[in-house]
Amino acid sequence: MLNYIMDLVYPRRCPICGDIADPRGNLACPPCKKRLKYVEEPKCKKCGKHVEFNEQEYCFDCVKKDHQYTYGISLWEYDSTMRKSISDFKYKSRREYADFYIEEIIKYYKEEIMIMSPDVLVPIPIHKSKLLDRGYNQAEVLCQGLSSKLGIPTIPNLLMRDKKTLPQKQLNDKERFKNLQQAFSFNEKARFKTNMSINKVLLVDDIYTTGSTIEACSRILIKNGISEVYFVSICVGKGF
Ligand SMILES: [Zn+2]
Ligand SMILES: [Zn+2]
Repeated sequence: MLNYIMDLVYPRRCPICGDIADPRGNLACPPCKKRLKYVEEPKCKKCGKHVEFNEQEYCFDCVKKDHQYTYGISLWEYDSTMRKSISDFKYKSRREYADFYIEEIIKYYKEEIMIMSPDVLVPIPIHKSKLLDRGYNQAEVLCQGLSSKLGIPTIPNLLMRDKKTLPQKQLNDKERFKNLQQAFSFNEKARFKTNMSINKVLLVDDIYTTGSTIEACSRILIKNGISEVYFVSICVGKGF
């Protein structure tokens, strides 16, 4: 009943076309859903990007880099449709889009997440100033939603983003990564407060592109005694 009234007052918008979802009350319009490109096999065994050939174990990016996270999964290709959807989710207060993303992640990847068997879910943090601008951290919204569907707790502040990253233009790859890594820190107090032993962490974010953010966060977690780090993201860039 409450949902029904809420939908009359604030009709739910489709995360794909941005209009009021048709039929009303749906998380997305069924024809719009067909426009989304789900990441298909074959996939990179590390970052989960679609790769061109079956015999290709890793994408070109993962062959070059020594990622410390175990592996990750993403739901959709980051194309122009998803770019618009995620941009509105982040910057235009379309917080409710998370319900659709979460439902699809659960539908396609619940089993795989259960195989990872993370002790906790942790969102990629954003800087305080961004949080003030947007009013919420999109990764945390996703994380909380996934948490309740999976029955696995979230520690929203296990990782902190203390510093804004410096302008990266003048820096080479290595310096960029160092710069990024220094922006994050581990929150020992948050771990202590949970009163549980945390061995496996599932990081949650909206987009995986070069993977440098996930990697920077993974290294900090591993340095602080976490043994395995996985990630799940809504979208991923192309792998070849
Ligand atoms: Zn639509
Ligand atoms: Zn890869």
